[in-house]
Amino acid sequence: MTESLQHSTVDLEVFTAALGEIAWSTERNIVRQKSRDFFWYSPILKAQLDGCFGEIIVTPRSEGEVVVVTRLCAAHHLPVTVRGAGTGNYGQAVPLSGGVVLDMSEMTSVGNVIDGIVNAEPGAKLKDIEAKTLPQGWELRLYPSTRRTATIGGFVAGGSTGVGAINHGLLVDGGIAGLRVVTVEAEPRILDLSGPDVNRVHHAYGTTGIITQVRMPLEPSQDWVDVAVEFADFMELSRFCQAVGEDPAIAKKLVTAVAWPIPRYFRTLDAAFTEGAAVGLFMIASASLPAFDHRLAEHGGHPIYRATQAEAATRGQAPIYEYTWNHTTLQALKVDRTVTYLQTLFPAPDHLDGIAAMIEMFGDELPMHLEFVTLDGRVCCFALQIVRYTTAERLAEIIRIHEERGYTIFNPHTYVLEDGGMKQTDPEQLAFKKVADPMGLLNPGKMRGWNAIKPAAR
Ligand SMILES: Cc1cc2nc3c(=O)[nH]c(=O)nc-3n(C[C@H](O)[C@H](O)[C@H](O)COP(=O)(O)OP(=O)(O)OC[C@H]3O[C@@H](n4cnc5c(N)ncnc54)[C@H](O)[C@@H]3O)c2cc1C
Repeated sequence: MTESLQHSTVDLEVFTAALGEIAWSTERNIVRQKSRDFFWYSPILKAQLDGCFGEIIVTPRSEGEVVVVTRLCAAHHLPVTVRGAGTGNYGQAVPLSGGVVLDMSEMTSVGNVIDGIVNAEPGAKLKDIEAKTLPQGWELRLYPSTRRTATIGGFVAGGSTGVGAINHGLLVDGGIAGLRVVTVEAEPRILDLSGPDVNRVHHAYGTTGIITQVRMPLEPSQDWVDVAVEFADFMELSRFCQAVGEDPAIAKKLVTAVAWPIPRYFRTLDAAFTEGAAVGLFMIASASLPAFDHRLAEHGGHPIYRATQAEAATRGQAPIYEYTWNHTTLQALKVDRTVTYLQTLFPAPDHLDGIAAMIEMFGDELPMHLEFVTLDGRVCCFALQIVRYTTAERLAEIIRIHEERGYTIFNPHTYVLEDGGMKQTDPEQLAFKKVADPMGLLNPGKMRGWNAIKPAAR
């Protein structure tokens, strides 16, 4: 367990009396359940965070209630860890110092689409946002594979990219139109951020403000078809994925490649996999299927699954994206609890050569899983390799070998914000934290750059 498991010294009776009509609970099971996320994917985080819990769950229903709670937290010096649906992977929503878990799941309203932008409260689930936008002819540009469970506030504060990355890259690159944020101070303020300023709060793990409104840019909706194909050879599948990614005549939302034995973990997908096959998973616009099939034949692949999302639902099948991104690891963990994963960027233009070299080096210790993404106008790959975990030392060695070759590891085995992908404190986020959370009450212990500043200099 982590050493920082202090609890606050606040008298919760006084605090709860001041909450008035705002919903709260100190019921042990609820507090424990709402203090967790999916950190257990990592054997290292599991050992560190298993015993970390908040002291009270507070569930605001409006921005006004958020302001009341934050004013009280500032007055009592009570830590606040914000929570959406708790699907984050790095202990992002796990309180390290007790205090309040601020559960945003009751703030769910979604507005109409105006000028291609949807305005939503942070607790709205991504699927519920699209339930409102799709009938108006619009869809989210990017969503995590947790679309059916995660909240928009959690995606913006904790996520980075996902389905749609083949067209739009990362959220940080203009994927968020605007945010409203409540500060934690004696008199909380409501700040409106737009343009690049949203990145002061995006992917800051809720350490730089409490998001109360999100404005997301949309794109015209398309008729997506879930497709799976198989190849005898993983690198030939990867070249096919690259070709699909680069082909403007094929409208796509998802381009994924997994090496054997990963398809063995896809027990619920209604497709017959050939032993040893490499499998590609796609979302392709129905009008682009002929162009896709033409390329598939050229590269020597075979179709094994095809369904519109409505057909899949009728057949009791999950959408294909629930086998991709971090769901691939989840499917593996459902079968084998000893595996874990890595997240690696293989940048263009030599990404496929680098991937082939890593497969050669690590073999079955790191079964390969690629998500094709467009970064700086070029198609390249994020790998979310399955890791057959042995020891923390070996995991560190695998990471070092990748980094020595110039491949950035977005380390999913740390809860420290900077140690994930950024490797250093974002100066804009740190400067904004001084303004929005001068007492350092938001998700304490997650931003190393803040911990390093002497209290007098904050
Ligand atoms: C199976 C699986 C698949 C996944 N796939 C993807 C993927 O494709 N892409 C991706 O980016 N991530 C992925 N993730 C990680 C995670 O699901 C996403 O980041 C998701 O969007 C988090 O949403 P949530 O509502 O569960 O947030 P939580 O886990 O509840 O919170 C995430 C972080 O955001 C903060 N936060 C939440 N709400 C607010 C708010 N209103 N204001 C300020 N801070 C807030 C929390 O404090 C926490 O630090 C995956 C995780 C799993 C388990």
